[in-house]
Amino acid sequence: MATALYSHPDCVLHDMGEWHPECPRRLQAIEDQLIASRIDPLLVHEDAPLVDENELLRVHRPEHIDHLRALAPVDGYAEIDADTRMNEHSWRAAMRAAGAAVAATDAVIDGRYDNAFCSVRPPGHHAEPDRAMGFCLFNNVAIAARHALDVRGLSRVAIVDFDVHHGNGTEAAFAGDRRVLMCGLFQHPFYPYSGDTPMAPNMINVPLAARTNGATMREAVDMMWIPALETFKPEMIFVSAGFDAHREDDLGGLGFVEADYEWLTMQICAIAKRYAKGRIVSCLEGGYNLSALGRSVATHIKVLTEA
Ligand SMILES: [Zn+2]
Repeated sequence: MATALYSHPDCVLHDMGEWHPECPRRLQAIEDQLIASRIDPLLVHEDAPLVDENELLRVHRPEHIDHLRALAPVDGYAEIDADTRMNEHSWRAAMRAAGAAVAATDAVIDGRYDNAFCSVRPPGHHAEPDRAMGFCLFNNVAIAARHALDVRGLSRVAIVDFDVHHGNGTEAAFAGDRRVLMCGLFQHPFYPYSGDTPMAPNMINVPLAARTNGATMREAVDMMWIPALETFKPEMIFVSAGFDAHREDDLGGLGFVEADYEWLTMQICAIAKRYAKGRIVSCLEGGYNLSALGRSVATHIKVLTEA
C-alpha cells in the first residue's frame, strides 16, 4: 500500500489572469519540491478523472452547476466575483479537481491506497451549494465526503480544514449533518468573515487572531479538535489542506511553518489510524507563496507516506 497523488494537466490550464495568486505555477512548485525532496518516488501518480455530474449534485444545486457551465467562456475570462474567474479550461479543471477527490476516496475505501493527496486546482472550500466564490468553483472535499457517506455507505466522516481562510462552503454544506464533524481553524476576522459563530454543533471552529503562531495553534488543536475527533470516531478523514497560514504567505496573516504542518498532519494521521483504518483524502486548497507552498505540501505528504 502507498500514498497516491491525484492530479491532471487540465488543472494547470485553469488560469484567472497573470496577476492572480491562485496561479498554475502552484502545482508546478509542488511537483518540483516533491522531486527535490525525494518524496516523489514514494508516491503513486494517478490521473484525476472528470467528475460524474451526479457527484456534484450531492452538494451543489443544479442551478449552480448549469450557471458555471453556461458561464465558461470560449476565450478570455468570465467573472464570477472580484477574485474568481473562469477561462476556457476552468470548467474541465473544476471537473478534474472534484473528480480527483471522488476517485481518491474510492481508491482509499477500496484499500488500493493507504491515503491520498489531490494536487488540484481550482480549490474548493469556499464554494457553497449554490455559489462559487473565493477562487473556488465546486467544493471538492464536500463532494468527496458526501460520496463516502451516500455512495460508499460510511456513517461518520470528519473534515479537517487548516487553510488560513474559513471554509464557509463546507460549513454551509454540512452544518447540522450529524454524519459529519468539521474541524476548522482560520484567521479571524478575515475573508470570508464567517465562522466565528459556528452554524451548528457539528462545526468545531477555531478562529485565530492575526499573527498567531504555530505554538498557539497547536494548543488550540489539542484543546478543541482532538477531543471532538476522539468522541466522534470518524471512519474516514478529509483534509482541506490550505497552506496560506504559512508565515511567508502574504495572502494570510498567520505564522505557521513547515513543522506546524508536519505536526498537524501527524495528529490527523493518529486519529485516522485509531478510528478510520488510516483512511485520509487530502485536497489542496490555498497556499500562494510558491516556495512555502512547495515545502509545506512536501512536508504534509511525507507524513502521509509514513503513516
Ligand atoms: Zn485560503
